[in-house]
Amino acid sequence: MSLIVQKFGGTSVANGDRINAVADRVEKFKKEGHQIIVVVSAMSGETNKLIGLAEEMMESPDPRELDAIVSTGEQVTAGLTALALINIGIPAKSYSGYQIKILTDQAHTKARILKIDEKAIRQDLDAGNVVVIAGFQGVDEIGNITTLGRGGSDTTAVAIAAAINADECQIYTDVDGIYTTDPRVVKEARRLKSITFEEMLEMASLGSKVLQTRSVEFAGKYKVKLRVLSSFDAYGEGTIITFEEDEKMEEPIISGIAFNRDEAEINVLGVPDTPGIAYQILGPIADANIDVDMIIQNVSKDGTTDFTFTINKRDLKTTLEIIDTKVKGIIHPREIISDEKIAKLSLVGVGMRSHAGIASKMFKTLSDEGINISTISTSEIKISIIVEEKMLDRAVKALHKIFELEKA
Ligand code: ASP
Ligand code: MG
Repeated sequence: MSLIVQKFGGTSVANGDRINAVADRVEKFKKEGHQIIVVVSAMSGETNKLIGLAEEMMESPDPRELDAIVSTGEQVTAGLTALALINIGIPAKSYSGYQIKILTDQAHTKARILKIDEKAIRQDLDAGNVVVIAGFQGVDEIGNITTLGRGGSDTTAVAIAAAINADECQIYTDVDGIYTTDPRVVKEARRLKSITFEEMLEMASLGSKVLQTRSVEFAGKYKVKLRVLSSFDAYGEGTIITFEEDEKMEEPIISGIAFNRDEAEINVLGVPDTPGIAYQILGPIADANIDVDMIIQNVSKDGTTDFTFTINKRDLKTTLEIIDTKVKGIIHPREIISDEKIAKLSLVGVGMRSHAGIASKMFKTLSDEGINISTISTSEIKISIIVEEKMLDRAVKALHKIFELEKA
């Protein structure tokens, strides 16, 4: 007997039929003798609808009230899922985050989980119930309802699995696993049987939008065995996310290619190469809560240096304004250039640690394709580059092929 947490995303609970299919799946596992905790998202589209309603009342809704409103989406599906289970003879009980007591901090709309009281869950499981928990939500220490950020039900599921020491946390979604790259760009893209946490973090934060990044961090920290599978097929085994490199069944050097078309690049050229420059540029940007992704500074020869960084496109205007008003007057750059028509591509793989020559193979391939690289940055397990947006698909296809990612 295992204890399994099964999380079903919005498309997996989109309507009554889909919820009944969830109940059938849970029944199958229950009959095999497992204890099951189900975590559900809101029906697909529901969270957006609720946010829209709130915005009709107030332009930027008060965050405490917004959380009270959007958390109802998950409560509805939790109740409906419990009904679907009871209806086929499986004892089930639904709970909101507040009822379980998923304690979070007070950061409305992006709260972090602090503690989960798992006693009631355990009692219910031991009494033979399936426990159905509304994802995405919690409660702060003075009783305000909070939510965990978009996609937060993944994090609920992983946190519950960690708190109750589950054997596995299964994330059911509308794709059947993690792919070597986006199959819409490379039709030969292949589902990975396994991927390490580190790789998954790179893939998730780089725009393979299957799992909320925070849920992967959480799973890595608490060693939760995580599996991504489709609720639309019956017996797929999905992709398992492992902790150890040697747990991996396959051992490719490169696991995948992630990419992101949402970034913009800013070059601050000809700034004095003195201590504190990076801080003077990035400090005011961080103060405005703008996330900076890649950061590159050149070696300086003549006492000045060039500073390049990327941000989300939607933050470009604000960032340029900040540089204009708060940075320029202090560091006096020669020129500031920005570019929105770029894309970031990353080659990801733990095998890079022990294999030389990956970068040169990558750069040769891109050069053969006539693709210009504007910026390069690396970590132990990834090489990221910026290319012109219109060259992205070509780059991804060429690299997928040269590294033979279609082959297991
Ligand atoms: N319903 C929330 C959202 O749409 C949380 C989730 O689905 O994970 O972001
Ligand atoms: Mg999701």
